[in-house]
Amino acid sequence: MSGTTNVCMNLPPHLTVREGRLHIGSHDTVALANKYGTPLYVTDEQRIRSNFAAYHDALTGYYDRVQMLYAAKANGNLAVLKVFADLGAGADVFSAGELYLALVAGMKPEHLLFNGSSKTPDDLKLAVQKNVRVSLDSVDEMMQLNEVARAMGTTVECSFRVNPAMEVPTHPKIATGLATSKFGIHAGEIIDAYRAAVEATNIVPVGLHCHIGSQILDVAPFAEEAAVLVKVAKQITDLGVNLRFLDMGGGLGIPYNHMTEVAPTPQEYADAVMPVFMDGIEKAGIRPELWVEPGRNLIGDSTVLLTRVNSVKRTHKAFVNVDAGFNLLARPVMYDAYHEVIVADRAEAAPAGTYTITGPICETGDILAHDRMLPEVSFGDTIAILDTGAYGFSMSSQYNSRPRCAEIMVNGGMEAPMRRAETIIDLKMTMEQLPWQ
Ligand SMILES: *Cc1c(COP(=O)(O)O)cnc(C)c1O
Repeated sequence: MSGTTNVCMNLPPHLTVREGRLHIGSHDTVALANKYGTPLYVTDEQRIRSNFAAYHDALTGYYDRVQMLYAAKANGNLAVLKVFADLGAGADVFSAGELYLALVAGMKPEHLLFNGSSKTPDDLKLAVQKNVRVSLDSVDEMMQLNEVARAMGTTVECSFRVNPAMEVPTHPKIATGLATSKFGIHAGEIIDAYRAAVEATNIVPVGLHCHIGSQILDVAPFAEEAAVLVKVAKQITDLGVNLRFLDMGGGLGIPYNHMTEVAPTPQEYADAVMPVFMDGIEKAGIRPELWVEPGRNLIGDSTVLLTRVNSVKRTHKAFVNVDAGFNLLARPVMYDAYHEVIVADRAEAAPAGTYTITGPICETGDILAHDRMLPEVSFGDTIAILDTGAYGFSMSSQYNSRPRCAEIMVNGGMEAPMRRAETIIDLKMTMEQLPWQ
């Protein structure tokens, strides 16, 4: 197509520039911003599907017993969960809400794993009722789950989460497999946990779970994780446990900085992990399903956040005041995360200056992007913040009493809202009138 390019900024194939404007799929982002209003999250279903296929096919190239469990916390919209259900995925769910939505989306209970380090008695009851396996984080939790299942006159299948005590190169807030992390049971102590589970009357241990962290851009830690996993799996098997699944968790990163970061492909991930995995299960004499729980890698780059410029202020630097802040995208403030920024109306114009993109929240730290070289920016422009599909909307809040924005899905020539914007009226929906006011 003439006037079409995606060479600037190493854009993924679903993002292109046509007649100067950023497009997602076949849709003009500026037209979407005008039609639906801003701020606006826009997700491309086809990109989710191709990301899924790349991950799934890389693993099944080595082993035919693979089950994908999408990490629902990355983006929990029902429309997104339905895409994954349609692809045959289950989900890693971390709360009763995620469990409920995954079932509503049509995922099979046997393809869900109820994770989490701090579940309530009601959470455990829900898992047993819905026939969803539970990943346990402590022996204490196992005893409670046993009691819940006993009271309900049934048994429940479970796994334990192993803490591999590994240093992982990522932001400390999202490294979960450190020896000091709150998650899991240390590899040296986990055999005792399985022994206790075998003895418990209403618990059937059937799996082993691990997750070392998020946004990891090196495959070596995953190979190390796989080695711990199969080693522990052999010990558990020798105890007499019939292991039906080994769960590697998620964590494979994406290149947020399109110019400087390189992420391993799912194929490179599989090439590092699968030989260790295959060798390990053969030595243990077992053929469990391989479960994986990717979130970010499947959905991170599928989405742009569109935000409108309210004003440009030139002081010691040029601030671009936009209508989305850390209420809608917490990652820059929470993890010092970098997201690429494009002036959607003039995506190919030459850089004219250095701009800092600032949100509307009443906090000095409400900055979405620092010191970016951009074309001339002015009032009314649409700014696209890239790679916001994972931990974007799902971490949003109503801070400063700002209603959350809408989310749109595009799919080929189609487009539709998958969540309406909240209104000012919505803000007071859950607030109560006090009897003395
Ligand atoms: C967050 C999480 C994931 C997904 O992590 P990504 O980095 O998004 O792939 C998978 N499993 C568990 C248990 C998690 O907490």
